[in-house]
Amino acid sequence: MSGTHTAIEYLKGVGPERARLLKEELDIKTFQDLLHFFPSRYIDRSQFYNINNLPQNNSEVQIKGKISDIEYINQKRGKRMVALFQDETGFIKLVWFRGYKWIRESLKLNENYVIFGRLNWFNGQANMPHPEMELEVNFQNKIIAAFYPIYPSTEKLINKGISQRVIQKLVANLIENSVEAFKETLPQYLLDHYKFISKAKALKEVHYPVSQKNLSRAQSRLKFEEFFYMQFQLILKNIQRKNKIKGFIFSKVGNTFNDFYKKKLPFSLTLAQKRVIKEIRNDLGSGRQMNRLLQGDVGSGKTIVALLIMLIAIDNNFQASLVAPTEILASQHYQSLLELLRNTSVKIELLTGSTRLKDRKVIHEALQNGELNILIGTHALFEEKVQFKNLGIAIIDEQHRFGVAQRSKLWEKNKTPPHVLVMTATPIPRTLAMSIYGDLDVSVIDNLPPGRKPVKTLHCNDSNRLRVFDFIKKQIKEGHQVYFVYPLIQESEKLDYKDLMDGYESLSRSFPQPQYQISIVHGKMKAGDKSFEMKRFVERKTQIMIATTVIEVGVNVPNASVMIIESAERFGLSQLHQLRGRVGRGSDQSYCILMSGSKLSEEAKTRLKTMVKSNDGFDIAEVDLRLRGPGNLMGTQQSGILKLKIADIIKDNTLLKVARDTANEIIKQDPNLERTENQVIKRTLSALRFDSNIWNFIS
Ligand code: ADP
Ligand code: MG
Repeated sequence: MSGTHTAIEYLKGVGPERARLLKEELDIKTFQDLLHFFPSRYIDRSQFYNINNLPQNNSEVQIKGKISDIEYINQKRGKRMVALFQDETGFIKLVWFRGYKWIRESLKLNENYVIFGRLNWFNGQANMPHPEMELEVNFQNKIIAAFYPIYPSTEKLINKGISQRVIQKLVANLIENSVEAFKETLPQYLLDHYKFISKAKALKEVHYPVSQKNLSRAQSRLKFEEFFYMQFQLILKNIQRKNKIKGFIFSKVGNTFNDFYKKKLPFSLTLAQKRVIKEIRNDLGSGRQMNRLLQGDVGSGKTIVALLIMLIAIDNNFQASLVAPTEILASQHYQSLLELLRNTSVKIELLTGSTRLKDRKVIHEALQNGELNILIGTHALFEEKVQFKNLGIAIIDEQHRFGVAQRSKLWEKNKTPPHVLVMTATPIPRTLAMSIYGDLDVSVIDNLPPGRKPVKTLHCNDSNRLRVFDFIKKQIKEGHQVYFVYPLIQESEKLDYKDLMDGYESLSRSFPQPQYQISIVHGKMKAGDKSFEMKRFVERKTQIMIATTVIEVGVNVPNASVMIIESAERFGLSQLHQLRGRVGRGSDQSYCILMSGSKLSEEAKTRLKTMVKSNDGFDIAEVDLRLRGPGNLMGTQQSGILKLKIADIIKDNTLLKVARDTANEIIKQDPNLERTENQVIKRTLSALRFDSNIWNFIS
């Protein structure tokens, strides 16, 4: 009997060449890998159709009957072979375009067959190309399950002759001969408690289920196991992290914070803001390095939270930094914080790629001798030359814009790492975030400041354009400003640029000077020109801002009341939501108009519909998740943690929670896995290769 880690090459029917293909195409290297290569769907082979009662579509069906005649028909290239197949109710033609010489030899006339294949309808007549055929006498012995597994495959495998059939045979072979070698991977008390079947049985039944009921119980046992070990590793790793990394202790709240809070804060904080600040303060006093994710919908007021936290750092004699993904956003942060901090003793500076050398030197110096309290910037902050005297906290805005490597540079410089707060407006459903990132601490600002009117969202196409323009003119007349956003200009995509420039030209005609003034900002402009244009808009010297998605993140112009998104079908949901968040920041009613072509894919339709229907970032994130799958969640692309074999983070979310709670409970009861009944967990864990990438995101 073979062990589970035996190389797949040694399985009967594989050999070196097939082993190489299986490894390259499907990442199957061992017996174990093949047994954990699960069917993507099943076909019910307990059902037979009568020929006069076939479904009128291209589904796969199974029929019992006899071949009564065979003929050859000439066609453009070569011949095709056609067999007349009959049951008591009618006949159907079976067709072979290739390989029929060999097939003909094995076909027997007037014997009972079971055939299986996909229907093809032509002129109201059904035929079946290249059916699978089995003599009925053999069929009974051969089919070991009612459900027939269909495995995911690749073009290359099929071309190289590793068809469904071949994979089915390999798996069947393995199950017959080796499945008993697969040791149990869950403790007996869990099997008892959840009434799970054994590992060996589950593997057998997931590949060859005898009924839907058995299939379901095999699947839930395997899904649970997959989640359980994923969660177990996450939780253990987090405990290690927390024990290991010491952090600065911010023990007090002093005058800097208190004076600002009493005298300068322009509004009272929302309950959510207060709660979040408390959560962060707890971390800062704990003696361990904080790694917290702050989620809050666009406009929920994350900036002020960041400022207050930075003031606490200053009260504890530390410096603070706030990093933004774009120069525009960094300088906006700088301007608004500068304004808020006027007439206080807090020293704040801005450092970006376009800061002049002379100013740069001054900043570097003030940073090193500790005169400077807060440094705002872009990734220019990550340069080697930028040395803080004592950076206590690094706040990163809109994290999904950053590469992992860039972030870690920031604290390699110091011995004790600064606390890290990552702010994002791209929400992840909370339970999901916990499940994926383990105990990465997550704070959520879950309500907006009072008095906000939800943005009204409409979906229009070109036939409505004139009416849209009239509407915009009315809004401008009332003193409001308007954004027009075009899809991102990518370096190589000349087309996008042309769209934007064409748009600019036609808007200039529809909104002529001097009555209307237009700003334009796009990725190909120099930073200085961008901020000049931006500034004109902020100062209301222009009423219309034409832009690519550079304005997506964080721009704050409360007087802007209309957001027009051109070619909206080309944007992702979270991007659309972010863009919409640029309006609705003042007290007046705001609008978001999604312009699109009239031919839309189903997915694009769903995106636009969702935007029209909902203003809630969490709802939108859920739909986005369903449309695109969890692979696109921030930080998870590199992690591999979501490469689950059978479980689905979204569909099986309930089971995920159960698995997580179970793992938590066991770790609490038996942290070092010393109990006899938990040895099986210990053994299984050590056999798992842990994908270390996810920890780049967290630590
Ligand atoms: P985001 O979370 O998208 O970064 P901002 O921090 O830019 O949001 O805040 C959006 C707007 O809401 C800003 O104009 C800010 O001054 C305002 N704001 C933030 N908190 C409050 C509050 N508690 N009450 C009233 N207005 C607030
Ligand atoms: Mg912001």
